[in-house]
Amino acid sequence: MTEMLSERIIQMEESATLAMAKKARELKSQGIDIISLSLGEPDFKTPKHIQEAAKNAIDEGKYFAYPPVAGYQDLREAIAKKLREENHIAEAKAENIVVSTGAKHSIANVFMCLLNEGDEVVIFSPYWVSYAEIIKLAGGVPVLIEGDLENNFKATAQQLASALTDKTKAIIYSSPCNPTGSVFSKEELEAIAEVVKKRENLFVIADEIYELINFTGNHASIGSFPGMFDRTITVNGFSKGYAMTGWRVGYICAPLFIAKACEKMQGQFTSGGTGIAQRAALAAISGDQSPSKEMEKAYLKRRDLVLQLIQEIPGFKTHVPEGAFYFFPEVSHFFGKSVDGFQIKNADDFCLYILEKANVSLVTGEAFGAPNCVRISYAASEEELIEAIKRIKEACARIQ
Ligand code: PMP
Ligand code: GLU
Repeated sequence: MTEMLSERIIQMEESATLAMAKKARELKSQGIDIISLSLGEPDFKTPKHIQEAAKNAIDEGKYFAYPPVAGYQDLREAIAKKLREENHIAEAKAENIVVSTGAKHSIANVFMCLLNEGDEVVIFSPYWVSYAEIIKLAGGVPVLIEGDLENNFKATAQQLASALTDKTKAIIYSSPCNPTGSVFSKEELEAIAEVVKKRENLFVIADEIYELINFTGNHASIGSFPGMFDRTITVNGFSKGYAMTGWRVGYICAPLFIAKACEKMQGQFTSGGTGIAQRAALAAISGDQSPSKEMEKAYLKRRDLVLQLIQEIPGFKTHVPEGAFYFFPEVSHFFGKSVDGFQIKNADDFCLYILEKANVSLVTGEAFGAPNCVRISYAASEEELIEAIKRIKEACARIQ
């Protein structure tokens, strides 16, 4: 009966990150000792003061009804204040903020509101799996510009300029980047902003969800640059920096006409995000930031640990990620080789082999637009990471 489904869902790829996480969960439930390095999800618990805020919100009994579609006013104000003070987006006001059910939902709102059939969106590749599928769902056409390993996988302003056509409506990148962990410097973003400003009606979707996991100490928001507020939709959320993936709160800061459109879209699709989760988000953004700093420190320590360990695996080529919690090594050295009668043709086969023989789940680079790579999430304990990389190293040594 699947032919009864809409073309749009038949054409859509399943999220590779979530699919791999599901597979790992299933194998675990069969009693297999899987170490899951596939899902980009903090392994920390949501900080206590945020949990407490949610408990208090329940006890107060005031947040059980439908929240305003664009989010509670005090949360929108707190987000706008943070964007003004920390991200230097001087024009950000509560009216520019729309709170949604996770940043994924925010991105979906934006593309559904911006794109007409055939509009092109330039994606800085490697890119997060969901961008291309959401763009296609909204009728758009993804156009990839690819960063090389030599430039830490960062595509450049020049590449952007050559990818623009009459149909380009928007560009999207994440910085710090999922899947590469690379961070755009202020200068790199300024060069990108110059290209954007030369064109009318071109918008930037700046996905800053990993803002709080950035080892360079410098986070630049393109929406803060002169003339860029009206061109930028800044996307952020609470999942990564506050270890709140399951609470489902994300937001955009956008020019008013886009914010209003997203509110209208959300009003028909989902209504406002969960009230209790929004109260928790308010505590996160306006309360003690030290738990986030501690988590960032722990990720940096793990980054250094994993870097040292994977540099010891012959055939792995990696850059040094500067943020988020991913490594994105090139593993094409193993393609065309065999093990136990099984030929490894590509990154999908490599991940399958590592899952079955090393019991470690990774995600194929194919899903992120980089078919020679695999993604390793190091949001796991040091013990798990050491054991996982040891298993990967042993399994790789058997490939001939
Ligand atoms: N953008 C990027 C780059 C991500 O890695 C994620 C993680 N899921 C999201 C957006 C969406 O985050 P969430 O919906 O959990 O807020
Ligand atoms: N963003 C995370 C990842 O890339 C979570 C899973 C998802 O939503 O795709 O693994």
